[in-house]
Amino acid sequence: MKINGKTKTCGLIGKPVEHTMSPTIHNTLAKKLGIDLVYVPFLVEQNLTAAVKGAYALNVLGMNVTVPYKSDVLKEICEVDSLAGQIGAVNTLVRVNGGYKGYNTDMTGLYRAMTGYGIKIEEEEVIILGAGGAARAVAYLCVHYGAKKVYILNRSVDKALSIAEEIRETTGKNCIEAMALQDYTKLSEEKKLCIQATSVGLSPNEEEAVIEEEAFYQKIHTGYDLIYRPTNTKFMQLVKAQGGQAYHGLKMLLYQGIEAFELWNQVQVSEALCDEVYEVMKGEMGIEE
Ligand code: NDP
Repeated sequence: MKINGKTKTCGLIGKPVEHTMSPTIHNTLAKKLGIDLVYVPFLVEQNLTAAVKGAYALNVLGMNVTVPYKSDVLKEICEVDSLAGQIGAVNTLVRVNGGYKGYNTDMTGLYRAMTGYGIKIEEEEVIILGAGGAARAVAYLCVHYGAKKVYILNRSVDKALSIAEEIRETTGKNCIEAMALQDYTKLSEEKKLCIQATSVGLSPNEEEAVIEEEAFYQKIHTGYDLIYRPTNTKFMQLVKAQGGQAYHGLKMLLYQGIEAFELWNQVQVSEALCDEVYEVMKGEMGIEE
């Protein structure tokens, strides 16, 4: 690409940033749409305040925020989108007058990925596996989009309990319940959507799933695994073995980027272009599906 005096800059702040796929997403989009923009990773070892202030001073148009700063960055921004504010985590900063406005496109990206696969949350019974940062945001998303019931299951049940409590308080909705992993046996036989948000099964531990019993998977009609390395996780295999549909998390990664790009550039990216970017990502990861 040709960089000139008018080229806009976007970037990623986090630690580490070496393995990120975001430059691939954004630089491909900019090239295909003919937008004069370059996207670069910025390793922020420390001093997040200086990093955000410096980016604003340098006229940076927008940034993604990754581990470990998704919550801390809330203190550095002048405005926050309401879903991101409820979740308490921001992964996208959009330049506004006087600073940046924070959004959570991880969650809107997940929603768009699931919608694209024909998975719906509204009026569904949803099981969330895990109670880490991602699971917490997924739980907000499910409540926000009108799930009938959300069961949050985690190895450390206290973490699941505190997320459920917090969501009840913030949203005023009572549809979320926390449980220990092994308590899935208490769930009704009615088939449910399950979102896998633990790190179990992530490469190189590909032979693991957080619950392995067949009886659990008999309660699931659709499984969505946030993990995308590998692309056919043990969790997905177990869902499919009991007749369910199963999907990996690469589309979520794609759409969190697409939604950030759309916010920065005030454009609408077509599905055909999303597919093209997805092919580039798969090529970079060396995967067929
Ligand atoms: P966290 O470290 O915050 O949470 C990890 C979760 O996994 C916790 O619930 C933890 O349980 C559980 N866990 C870890 N090891 C075990 C184990 N041996 N047995 C049972 N449970 C276990 O991670 P994140 O929430 O940030 O991320 C979770 C996953 O989501 C990761 O795999 C990440 O790659 C993926 N992800 C994908 C995205 C995408 O774009 N597709 C975006 C964000 C995340 P406990 O509380 O008991 O420790």
